[in-house]
Amino acid sequence: MKILLVEDDERLGRSLARLLEQDRHNVEVAPDGETGVDIALGENGIDVVILDLGLPDISGLEVARRVRAGKPTLAILMLTARDTVSDRVVGLDSGADDYLVKPFAYDELAARLRALARRTEGVVWRPEPRLVAGPIALDEAARTVSIHDRPVDLSPREFSLLESLLRHPGQALSRDQLLDQAWPFGVAVTPNAVDAYVHYLRTKLGKEGDRIETVRGVGYRLNNA
Ligand code: CA
Repeated sequence: MKILLVEDDERLGRSLARLLEQDRHNVEVAPDGETGVDIALGENGIDVVILDLGLPDISGLEVARRVRAGKPTLAILMLTARDTVSDRVVGLDSGADDYLVKPFAYDELAARLRALARRTEGVVWRPEPRLVAGPIALDEAARTVSIHDRPVDLSPREFSLLESLLRHPGQALSRDQLLDQAWPFGVAVTPNAVDAYVHYLRTKLGKEGDRIETVRGVGYRLNNA
C-alpha cells in the first residue's frame, strides 16, 4: 500500500516509516498538517493516511476534515496520545475510519492497516506468508507459533520478538532495533528488557532456541540455516 504518515514527532515518524517499509509499504512522511493535506489531496495514489492528532500547525482533526472533503473514500487512521471517549467521537466524526491510542505496538497498527485495506476499495491486500526457520513456523495472521507442527505458547511480547528476528534471518539486530520493532512506542524500556525476553524465548523454543544467537556488542541474530 501507499501510506502517508502525518507525524511531527521525528523519531516516531522515522521508526514507523522504517517498519512500514519493511512490510513492503511505500511510505511518505509529512511533518505537519498543511503538508499532509497537500500530499493527501495530490495525485499520488495514497491508499491510507496515518494521521497524528497533535500537530504543530493545524490539528489532526482539521486535516481529517479537509482530506475527507477532497477525497471522501481515502482511508484515515488517527493516532492520539489521549484516550477519552470524547476525543474518539470527535476523531471519528471528523472523518477518521479508525483510531489508535499511543502508546501502541507496531503489530496493532499493522493489524488496523490490514482491516482498513480490506475495507478500502481497489486495494488488494496480500496476506503475509508464514515466517519459517527450520522447524519453527510463525503465522502472522493467526498469531501462532509451532515447532514441528506442535504449537508453542508465547506471550505477545515473545511473539513480537520472534517475529522481528524471523523477518531478518541471518542478520544481526541491535537491542534498539528489536525494541523499536517488538515493543510499543512510547513505553519506557531499557535494552536489558530485550535480553530478558530473549532468555524466555530461548527457553520456550527448547532445542530450537539455540537458533537465536548472541552477537557480542550488538544484539541477536536468528540462524535459519
Ligand atoms: Ca504529535
